[in-house]
Amino acid sequence: MTIFDPLDAEPIINACGPVTRLGGAPMPLQVLEAMRRAAEGAASLERLQAAAGRLIAKHTGAEAGLATAGAAASLTLGAAAILAGLDPAKMERLPDTSGLPHEFVVAREQRSGYDHAVRAAGARLVEAGFNELVAGAGVRRTEAWEIEAAIGERTAGILYVAASDSRPTIAEVVEIGQRRQLPVLVDAAGQLPPRENLKKHIAAGADLVCFSGGKAIRGPQSSGILCGRAPLVQSAALQMLDMDDHPELSQAPCPIPRHGIGRAMKVSKEEIVGLATALELFASGEYDRELPEMHASLEQIAAALRGRPVDCSMQPSVGGAAPVLRVTLRESAPRTAMEVCRMLRAGTPAIFVGHAELHQRTLVIHPLCLREGEAEQIAQRLLETLVVAPRH
Ligand SMILES: *Cc1c(COP(=O)(O)O)cnc(C)c1O
Repeated sequence: MTIFDPLDAEPIINACGPVTRLGGAPMPLQVLEAMRRAAEGAASLERLQAAAGRLIAKHTGAEAGLATAGAAASLTLGAAAILAGLDPAKMERLPDTSGLPHEFVVAREQRSGYDHAVRAAGARLVEAGFNELVAGAGVRRTEAWEIEAAIGERTAGILYVAASDSRPTIAEVVEIGQRRQLPVLVDAAGQLPPRENLKKHIAAGADLVCFSGGKAIRGPQSSGILCGRAPLVQSAALQMLDMDDHPELSQAPCPIPRHGIGRAMKVSKEEIVGLATALELFASGEYDRELPEMHASLEQIAAALRGRPVDCSMQPSVGGAAPVLRVTLRESAPRTAMEVCRMLRAGTPAIFVGHAELHQRTLVIHPLCLREGEAEQIAQRLLETLVVAPRH
């Protein structure tokens, strides 16, 4: 019997943070309870979404909001809203955009696997600029004039992927968008915490902003937020909600489309309520109370590794983000970071640590998803990987 009964699947220890591959963040009890309650009743999804939209608008400062099936779904819906507006004939066609403006300009350095979600709506991405820092060829990154120069007759919008050091700045890109009358769609999926970032890109003038609900917000793993200008959010809602109703009964501001491109990304009433509950908790600062305990867990791991061939460095909590422990293997360590990572995953229970810095010989321990007693297990298993010399 495992916690995943009736499936014969073993739980793992997630020391990697709220990543999708490992099931996201643990949902607080209040969220689970809200979802259980919601499961007992029936709801008009349209009305429930309207209520969730008002709550999202309150916390983001946007005109309107929508609970989605994750930030990637928000990207598809946001692109679909920009492409179709409130025209049901265009909604019906997507992702066929032949003959319509359908290009989204994006800084080349902001492209990632997630932009597939934008292309899925029928958009084509047009890249602009260079990152000469990454290329080792200079000191410059994508500049605002390069975004502007990529705009043409077929341009429908601008895609912007937010990070703390994104270039050009959101202000520069919004300025171009407003001057050229092109909406700016922002992927801010993982930009929380800090809580202030809920409002940051809307305040800067972005037209649509996407967040994950299953990362630091700790809502259902397959939930997300789309927020921004009311007509665009309304278009997104019309392209996601189930449209099987009489036009005479509709209160939509346009003839109602058939099921749209977002119908495949539907959100259940339980998820809408779960996301709303988690958003309230996140925005209230409630989660900050757990930070000292997370810090203590990491200290415990660092203390257990003292005297071993590793260097531990603690990145303290900033702006409500979880603290993080970096364990860097010295040259004298008996295994590489890649080998240690593989061994931890191969053991029972499997332990997954942050793997972004393995090539710098560093394991990153993220405490958000750790449960009681797991820090001790991680320390113990790390010690085991560091004592035996495996090389023949
Ligand atoms: C996590 C992430 C996404 C996808 O978010 P989901 O909520 O898992 O759909 C998109 N973009 C970026 C930058 C992300 O970090």
